[in-house]
Amino acid sequence: MTKTASPYADEIDQRRTFAIISHPDAGKTTLTEKMLFFGGAIQLAGEVKAKGDRRRTRSDWMDIEKQRGISVMTSVMTFRYQGNIYNLLDTPGHEDFSEDTYRTLSAVDSAIMVIDAAKGIEARTRKLFEVCRLRDIPIITFINKMDRESLHPFELLEDIENTLALDLTPFNWPIGQGKNFAGLYDMRQSAIRRIDNPSGELEKVNGPEDPKVAELFNEHEREAGVEDLMLALEASKPFDADAFNEGHLSPVLFGSALREFGVKDLIDTLGAIAPPPQGLEADVREVAPSEPAMTGFVFKIQANMDPNHRDRIAFMRVCSGKLSRGMKARLARTGKMIGLHTPQFFFAQDRALAEEAFAGDVVGIPNHGTLRIGDTLTEGEVLAFRGVPSFAPEILRRVRLADPMKAKKLKEALQQLAEEGVTQVFTPVDGSPALVGVVGALQLDVLKDRLMAEYKLPVDFESARFSLARWVVCEDKAELSKFETRHRGSLATDLDGAMVFLAASEFDLTYEGDRFPSVQFFDVKDYQ
Ligand code: GDP
Repeated sequence: MTKTASPYADEIDQRRTFAIISHPDAGKTTLTEKMLFFGGAIQLAGEVKAKGDRRRTRSDWMDIEKQRGISVMTSVMTFRYQGNIYNLLDTPGHEDFSEDTYRTLSAVDSAIMVIDAAKGIEARTRKLFEVCRLRDIPIITFINKMDRESLHPFELLEDIENTLALDLTPFNWPIGQGKNFAGLYDMRQSAIRRIDNPSGELEKVNGPEDPKVAELFNEHEREAGVEDLMLALEASKPFDADAFNEGHLSPVLFGSALREFGVKDLIDTLGAIAPPPQGLEADVREVAPSEPAMTGFVFKIQANMDPNHRDRIAFMRVCSGKLSRGMKARLARTGKMIGLHTPQFFFAQDRALAEEAFAGDVVGIPNHGTLRIGDTLTEGEVLAFRGVPSFAPEILRRVRLADPMKAKKLKEALQQLAEEGVTQVFTPVDGSPALVGVVGALQLDVLKDRLMAEYKLPVDFESARFSLARWVVCEDKAELSKFETRHRGSLATDLDGAMVFLAASEFDLTYEGDRFPSVQFFDVKDYQ
């Protein structure tokens, strides 16, 4: 978090680029909605996403999403609040789209972890947290739904600390819970916030024993409540900014997204302590956000946002310098220069042309297939970022085409959809038909729908004799060649031409691993 003399230092320092991670139903959508509302990005709270017949967001543009009431795609929402610019990268809630989420997490500087106060840490929170930990992403914890019957705050903190091996520092403490949830005690400022004042100034008090605090508790809970608060104050570890930035310590805030309570405090905390855009490792060197030359990488492709115009938008995180509309940028994968004529910003309801963007910003770049996930753009420097991962699929299928004459069209369609990250495509080296690989079964439904809707290709999926795909790496050329000769029928190339071994079972994989000890099998691959 060092401030450097940069022409863009002020711009960089204002930005907070973050994601919200949670188990489905913990309240991510409600929180997103309220944050955007506070930021003035939407007029009416209640417009972001909706399940069932509630109103829908722009990110729910796909039919399949509408039918199932799940948010499939990752999108970005920008809002301003009290001098800062917040870029909230939305992640799909359903675990079948976890690849999308993992890619999105490669583009944020911090995350908010939402926890349901009645449930504590749930399976998906834990998984997402582990992804954040891989990258040491600083995390702010928001314990939501305090207006409902909840676990005791101490129990919740213990659960989080033990399950995630994470140190916690509560920044505020709930006064009551469920129907007696009456306010929050701000532990760092010795102040309270009453439930009927979600967004005003905090009210200073004279410590936890101030009568104003006691009064807020329900009569029957008063004594124990004040005692707990005193204990919490006494037992809390002081906030350590370094430990937070390294991802080892998380501040905790309580609240109720639905009642908009504690949301302002959460945004204030994000503004005050979450890191501004950070440096990023590229293949040849680390790039600092304060550098004057523009760099960025694509972490998501969204196609067909407007079905009337077959557009494809690449979401790029700007990593350094200034992106100006109309500038030319070098695409690392091909070495070609491309013009950035219509970069866009996304708000809750609208998109707008981005005249300029700085490190931490996410811009949408409309294109017709030039850009794919993992691509790096620079102002000319030969450099490529890493770290947008690709995961070995859990499910492998052959695509059966109703009309075999359309094989060429299918190949093109699969190539395009693979570039967007909808599926992975593996082309067997022996010339047999391509296989598709996905992490979750719903991805297959999306693939099928899109092949039909956008390419007029009715398809079915058949089981393949393979169930696992692993990227193959071997330093020993002679040994690799032996391996290739022996396994011609089980080798394929991915979208980038990297070698992939297809195995029928875990047993096969172990067996081959033992026979060819110098051949390594990987289940994660960084793009590039
Ligand atoms: P997501 O799946 O994590 O996006 O969760 P949603 O935001 O869709 O919320 C799931 C359900 O919990 C919805 O019915 C919300 O209205 C409800 N909910 C969210 N936040 C709160 C809260 O603070 N208090 C209460 N009582 N309900 C909440």
